[in-house]
Amino acid sequence: MTEKFLKNEQFNFIKKQVTLIKESIKKHVPPTVLNATIDLANAKIVDLFPSASAEQIALLDLSKLKNDSEYEQYLQLLSNYVVDFPKISEQQLKKMFPKSKKLKLPDLSNLDYSKLTYLGWNDLGSNKKYVVYELDGKMVGIECRISPTGKNNICSICNGHGEVAFFSTITKAKKAKNPDYYKAIGNLICIDSSECNKKITNVDYLEAFLKETLEK
Ligand SMILES: [Zn+2]
Repeated sequence: MTEKFLKNEQFNFIKKQVTLIKESIKKHVPPTVLNATIDLANAKIVDLFPSASAEQIALLDLSKLKNDSEYEQYLQLLSNYVVDFPKISEQQLKKMFPKSKKLKLPDLSNLDYSKLTYLGWNDLGSNKKYVVYELDGKMVGIECRISPTGKNNICSICNGHGEVAFFSTITKAKKAKNPDYYKAIGNLICIDSSECNKKITNVDYLEAFLKETLEK
């Protein structure tokens, strides 16, 4: 069996392509249009894996699938190839946030590690969200201040629509001439990080935001 090679966000991306195809089938679009949609989806999926082996490309290929149940089987099969989020202990988390004396920890026993791009949890009592992610091979964590908006909007991390909170964080980057200057970064993100992890299809924003926040 091929080793696991899909990341959660890549699996979500593939799932999104399948949804688009299934919608086209349901709408009874002309066969040429449907074939073009399938070809495009296939190309986009293969593009995600520039160094995929022939075996992996064969696994990812959805061009021969005919109906809903075949698409479901395809996703079911691919879900076996999703790499788990690295196992992390409460001790490691505490070390990651040394300044948070009363750090509220997530329930690590209840997590599905194959469905995480990042580990995120809230401490709503103190309006905080914690985000842990493996950035360039190293586990990093940041703490953000969140203000729930009570509204649905587009999340910056997953680009999905859902209940969002305004979050802000402060970078450690200081300007040489002004050592008291701290730059605040703010945006809207999903309140519920497990929902966000179901929708995220690429890590561009997440990584850029983490890099900017952790910049020294
Ligand atoms: Zn989100």
